[in-house]
Amino acid sequence: MNILVLAAHPDDEVLGMGGTIKKFTKKGFNVKIVIFATGISARRSSNYKNTENYDVDDNTILKMNKQIEKLKIDAISASKVLGVSDIEFLDFPDNEMDLISNLEITKSIEKIIKKFKPDQVFTHSGFDVNVDHRMLYNATLAATRPKSKSKIKRVYSFEVPSSTEWYFPSQFSPNFFVNIDNEIKSKITALKKYKTELNKFPHPRSTIALDAIAKKWGSVSGYNNAEAFTLIRELTD
Ligand SMILES: [Zn+2]
Repeated sequence: MNILVLAAHPDDEVLGMGGTIKKFTKKGFNVKIVIFATGISARRSSNYKNTENYDVDDNTILKMNKQIEKLKIDAISASKVLGVSDIEFLDFPDNEMDLISNLEITKSIEKIIKKFKPDQVFTHSGFDVNVDHRMLYNATLAATRPKSKSKIKRVYSFEVPSSTEWYFPSQFSPNFFVNIDNEIKSKITALKKYKTELNKFPHPRSTIALDAIAKKWGSVSGYNNAEAFTLIRELTD
């Protein structure tokens, strides 16, 4: 079983479906993670905080480029915790994927699909406050459209805390739940590999909030801990 995970930024893959990825690799599934944007350059600052300035000087760009490389190393460490060795970075502009044509993003996904031949594809919800998430969702729909030789049977979207629930009024309406009782610890461990992405509660990207989210979806689905997805499309032979 080939599982393709399309994430806009380093950490989205863990936040959205870290437990499920771990579950897949424990089952021996072949998981490939693709990270589209850098996760850094939108900050326009070299101190891992956002500045309100858009233009930046060359020195800051240089420092941010170093941080981009560090973040990639964190992403590789996090993916190892989840049992994944196949991770690819595409370096699209961070929080500016709306400057790239839907066609270009779609073609980059089509290229990956042609080579990897996924059975299932996971990506963002189309109802996220983050523009890169929405761009990726739309391009994924285009790239995975059912064609006669397509192997893709299912397409899912996952939620990302601090983006999906902030797209007010929230429209993420999951109908597919994965029990992650045995994987939630790995999910948190993987997230901690991202040294700069975790925040203090009540931020949604805090360990307390992530645990609460797993419990919330667990309460919806009859598990102690769960991750929630929307099944976008299913094809059955
Ligand atoms: Zn993101």
